[in-house]
Amino acid sequence: MTLATSIPNDIESADAPGVLELALGALGRDRVALASSFGAEDMVIVDMLASLVERPRVFTLDTGRLPQETYDLMDATRRRYGIDVEVYFPNAIDVQTMVLQRGLNLFYESIENRRDCCGVRKVEPLGRALATVDGWITGLRRDQIATRAGTPKIGLDTAHRGIWKVAPLADWDRERVWTYLRQHEVPYNALHDRGFASIGCAPCTRAIEPGEDERAGRWWWEEPAQRECGIHFDPLSGKMIPNEPKRRDAEVGAAASSF
Ligand code: SF4
Repeated sequence: MTLATSIPNDIESADAPGVLELALGALGRDRVALASSFGAEDMVIVDMLASLVERPRVFTLDTGRLPQETYDLMDATRRRYGIDVEVYFPNAIDVQTMVLQRGLNLFYESIENRRDCCGVRKVEPLGRALATVDGWITGLRRDQIATRAGTPKIGLDTAHRGIWKVAPLADWDRERVWTYLRQHEVPYNALHDRGFASIGCAPCTRAIEPGEDERAGRWWWEEPAQRECGIHFDPLSGKMIPNEPKRRDAEVGAAASSF
């Protein structure tokens, strides 16, 4: 069974565990992984995955600039769920060269510098991580920011070999995420209790004020439409990386052959 042939027409009405079960069943535990920044949504998914399969694959990108609280949560996750968190680091020479030429805090100086830093520290390591899977799971929610409004629950990631991209919480809102975390006593990043809604690298993340947009604390010095790191958003086109919903019937055979 392949994922392409097993996606039901009403996949958008499937609940989050159902979407994960489908992906795990079709791709296999070893060929699908959660890309986790250890945000609130990612912790919901870790909890669900751990209830569905033994030792689910979870990878993260250690940019070298993460807050200590995120490292603490990585270890808490390893202990609680007994999973090996696969940590991908940036290429050391690329980081050295960038820092030598433009300084450690280059991202504050221009949008180009910021995108280059995200490219070296996040996007390149992501590519290496995704080379090991046929599908990846993300914590994207449609209501986080306008650029994510069209996120399908299961789609094809055209930027990464056409592998599957799974967003089981696409139709969740923030309140539902936090209700789940509390009900299941899932560990979460301590920074959330200090006003941080979305957490990335320490120098590029701040707490938000009541009423501010959820992602207002990420790269707050830039225009809102630019505030994506290149993992889900193409900085050159200024658009979300196409994540096509399920392929049309005529194309399913071609997609199936890749698994
Ligand atoms: S979020 Fe900031 S520190 Fe982290 S990779 Fe991007 S620009 Fe660099």
